[in-house]
Amino acid sequence: MKKQALISVSDKTGIVEFSKELVSLGFHLLSTGGTARLLEKEGVEVEEVADYTGFPEMLDGRVKTLHPKIHAGILARRDCPEHMKALQEHGIDPIDLVVVNLYPFEQTIARPDCTFAQAIENIDIGGPTMIRAAAKNHASVAVVVDPTDYSRIIEEIRNKGEVTAETRLALAKKVFAHTARYDGAITNYLTSLGEDNKPATRFPQVLNRQWVKVQDMRYGENPHQQAAFYREQQVAPGLLAGYTQLHGKELSYNNIADTDTAWDMARSFDMPACVIIKHANPCGAAIGLNAAEAYKKAFRTDSKSAFGGIIAFNREVDLETATLVSKQFAEVVIAPSFSEEAKGLLEQKKNLRLLLVAGGHAQNDFDMKRVGGGLLVQTPDTQICPESALKVVTKKKPTSEQIADMMFAWRVCRWVKSNAIVYAHAGMTLGVGAGQMSRVDSARIAEQKAEESGLSLAGSAAASDAFFPFRDGLDVICDAGATCVIQPGGSIRDSEVIAAADERGIAMVFTGERHFRH
Ligand code: 5GP
Repeated sequence: MKKQALISVSDKTGIVEFSKELVSLGFHLLSTGGTARLLEKEGVEVEEVADYTGFPEMLDGRVKTLHPKIHAGILARRDCPEHMKALQEHGIDPIDLVVVNLYPFEQTIARPDCTFAQAIENIDIGGPTMIRAAAKNHASVAVVVDPTDYSRIIEEIRNKGEVTAETRLALAKKVFAHTARYDGAITNYLTSLGEDNKPATRFPQVLNRQWVKVQDMRYGENPHQQAAFYREQQVAPGLLAGYTQLHGKELSYNNIADTDTAWDMARSFDMPACVIIKHANPCGAAIGLNAAEAYKKAFRTDSKSAFGGIIAFNREVDLETATLVSKQFAEVVIAPSFSEEAKGLLEQKKNLRLLLVAGGHAQNDFDMKRVGGGLLVQTPDTQICPESALKVVTKKKPTSEQIADMMFAWRVCRWVKSNAIVYAHAGMTLGVGAGQMSRVDSARIAEQKAEESGLSLAGSAAASDAFFPFRDGLDVICDAGATCVIQPGGSIRDSEVIAAADERGIAMVFTGERHFRH
């Protein structure tokens, strides 16, 4: 029996040459109206699907290939005698190759004058059905949705007598990615329409079928940017997007971005903790016996920068804490609960946004960062080296108090944009140096901040998110008064830096783990 290929394409690039090759390799071609006409005109022998099924194309092309003779021919398992017998009984020939590309939905809606009716008519029905069927049955059927694959298919058939199993599986994967994208584009389009069926917002209600819009925003990171906030269909407990807003103005783009850092950081501590974030960096973080104490310590680190900050707690905000917080100007307070009195007090501030969020340790599957035409994806930075893994590299051994200080500084450091230097003591940040292009500058800035807040760095611990490439950064830290340092290690000049630490008489430990944050 002749091998059979079904060809039905909207994008007719390269289809004539491809079809001619298939005929020369012994294929019988089935094809739909427009494609069949083109092929016939070019002298390619082809049978129209309508003639084969005995059923005309109808409803302006809405039904062309949706027929059991087509779908059984694609879906029958060749290794199943019952399936093959059923084909025979109904006079159906197996289809071995499906060549389809879909109605150009995305190109259609991209036209500024595209009407709703035109968009709807460009939702392909038979095409996705065929390619999904063929991809499901990739054990026997090859399916081509991308004209750039034509030459490879011809080459394989010519040289190996068939499209190989490996290629068929690769093609099937391409199909499901293709149809997922196609349906994603339809969802994006439909859910961006207003009541008059004209695009109402640039941000669809459901983005790429996964992201559900929470709100359109007044603007993005800057007033000339447009923005929206989306969350997953099901937000795992503990993650920011599951918040409930109890009070205050609408959240802005920057509010949400910073609140995410604040909350994620606060919930990473076991003890009662408070974190104050400004422009993506903590300007103060502390642990304490309760929320109020943690807040007092966090606020003291840099009370000037805390103005307009985002404050996160990992414990209930009670009246005492709320009373302290209400003295400062803050944009957002987020916590797993608020006592009634605390809520009552904070609600008196008209603009302060109060967010309630469930506790929990769930994490995003992936961190994502858009780059020009692409996406960087990684697992989140959740690792934190346990005390037992610290490697003391200096002659001076740290005391247990110093170890506790270093571990706290290290935990904070993870949330500070690189290059990060954090001074800390007794569960409180004393100075945070963030986002500098040189580690030395970060160390100096952190020291300057401590000075401005009247905090002494004598006897403090310092954390560095990455190794010291030279001893200069370490010298700045020692000059500032720190007596112990925690850092990943791993520099080719480690020995030089260790010698410097010994020379300065401080204790230093290596974590073996780096925490860049960009
Ligand atoms: P042609 O230009 O050959 O008439 O049509 C090719 C297009 O029709 C392809 O994009 C293919 O995906 C699509 N198509 C094939 N069968 C059907 C069907 O039964 N219904 C719809 N709506 N589209 C189909």
